[in-house]
Amino acid sequence: MEPAVIAPLVDPYARPITYLRVSVTDRCDFRCVYCMAEHMQFLPKAELLTLEELDRLCTAFVGLGVSKLRITGGEPLVRRGIMGFFRQMSRHLGQGLDELTLTTNGSQLGRFADELAECGVRRVNVSLDTLDEDKFARVTRWGRLPQVLRGIEAAKAAGLRVKINTVALKGFNEDELFDLLAWCAAEDHDLTFIEVMPMGDLEGEDRLGQYWPLSDLRARLAERFTLLDLAERSGGPARYVRLQQTGQKIGFITPLTHNFCESCNRVRLTCTGELYMCLGQEDRADLRRPLRASEDDGLLRDAIREAIALKPKGHDFDYSRQGIGGQMTRHMSHTGG
Ligand code: SAM
Ligand code: SF4
Repeated sequence: MEPAVIAPLVDPYARPITYLRVSVTDRCDFRCVYCMAEHMQFLPKAELLTLEELDRLCTAFVGLGVSKLRITGGEPLVRRGIMGFFRQMSRHLGQGLDELTLTTNGSQLGRFADELAECGVRRVNVSLDTLDEDKFARVTRWGRLPQVLRGIEAAKAAGLRVKINTVALKGFNEDELFDLLAWCAAEDHDLTFIEVMPMGDLEGEDRLGQYWPLSDLRARLAERFTLLDLAERSGGPARYVRLQQTGQKIGFITPLTHNFCESCNRVRLTCTGELYMCLGQEDRADLRRPLRASEDDGLLRDAIREAIALKPKGHDFDYSRQGIGGQMTRHMSHTGG
């Protein structure tokens, strides 16, 4: 018998877990230099959860109080049948789920923006590190900027609010800081900068060499604008400032220069059904076994609760001691960023 009222998920540090990020595929049509090797070995398709299984898992989480679902990857929009999955998930909106959203590289938005809006998606995060076509091709290896810009246009036309996520890369997009800012202001997109994180061991890529601390980026912004710190928190790592002169709101995701773990409300599900309790730790739980062991969700719910009881206090990323501390060998595309 199911209890009439199911207790919400709360971790050992009294943090309510209300946000699930789901990586629906490890595959991608880009090969961003900080995320993937050029020749990636992807999982055999048979190892992926089916979309029906992902539905059951997400539905179980919503039943346990998760009110925000972010679909990510790899590139979520390259998974075959993904629109059917969005359509299915939309049944939870207003029934426990407050927000259904995604993070994408934008390449397929031209095809899918309207359908996403029909599924109740209201906001989309698009990753974009440069507005220069050649640099874009270099950083994504396989991506083409015009296609992404068309995708962003389509999202806007479909009524989706667009947030641009830009990884701050030393010697790469430092010189575009103010251009990116101006473009986002002109297009009315939100903008968040992300510090490059020590994920994946990529063919000698120099992760420390790519690291452009956001404290430095912020100082550069402050040379031209008055920065007003906003109290706003999304329960996540982002901190926001408003530029007094333009009114523009800018986010910073600074896992390295600031630790953000005390307010963490999220867990991450991989496309094989592993639940990672922290982006920066190896602690994880296999949900595929209890999912497949029984058609009833009792075992699955127990496994989710056991996993949440093991959520660590925080990550150990650290660039401060002349080296990379807390490095994770798994790729960001595995846990979905
Ligand atoms: N393919 C989609 C995209 O690019 O938006 C979703 C998955 S991607 C792994 C999610 C986010 O992780 C992207 O914004 C990407 O820039 C970011 N990311 C990937 N590798 C990173 C790293 N090493 N450090 C910081 N951010 C990273
Ligand atoms: Fe693909 Fe996103 Fe990783 Fe780039 S950051 S390789 S678009 S998963």
